[in-house]
Amino acid sequence: MKFKTGLALAIILFITAIGFALGCGQSSASSQKETTAVNAEPVKMEIAADPSGDEVFNGVKIKRTDAEWKKLLTPAQYNILREEGTDYPFKSQYHDNHEDGDYYCAACHLKVFSSANKFDSGTGWPSFWQPVNAKNVVEREDRSLGDVRTEVECARCGSHLGHVFDDGPKPTGLRYCINGTALKFEKAK
Ligand SMILES: [Zn+2]
Repeated sequence: MKFKTGLALAIILFITAIGFALGCGQSSASSQKETTAVNAEPVKMEIAADPSGDEVFNGVKIKRTDAEWKKLLTPAQYNILREEGTDYPFKSQYHDNHEDGDYYCAACHLKVFSSANKFDSGTGWPSFWQPVNAKNVVEREDRSLGDVRTEVECARCGSHLGHVFDDGPKPTGLRYCINGTALKFEKAK
């Protein structure tokens, strides 16, 4: 009888551990305490699995369900990043940010733009003349508003960042018009 109770307890703990592993995203240190008895290793988060991959996209894509993204992102971030929404001009963060540093995808923390390539476009959206690395973004045709535009996505998680136009400054002549809500700025150290 004792054995059966122990087994049942182990199964419950195991299921709990799987639940945390699948539902992870944000740190939940307090709730993980219960699982350490059966799972001595801390639950590894997918995003933190390869921090070196935040610099240049290493080809390992992040795929999540809509439900998972909804848990991880604020409603505004979800709308921009996952539903291809657009910030109101001059309303979002960073369009007027002149500090030195890097801009990361707000969904998966891949570095996508740098202050070194930022310029004042006057449009009200953070604007860059090139991404931090061509591998870190994907550009695809977007016909959603009638005319053809080029959408810019994060290469790692496929989240929508903004659009690229060909009326930018030298040396590329490109204007990456990016939603501030899709970015997370980190000051240069
Ligand atoms: Zn991303």
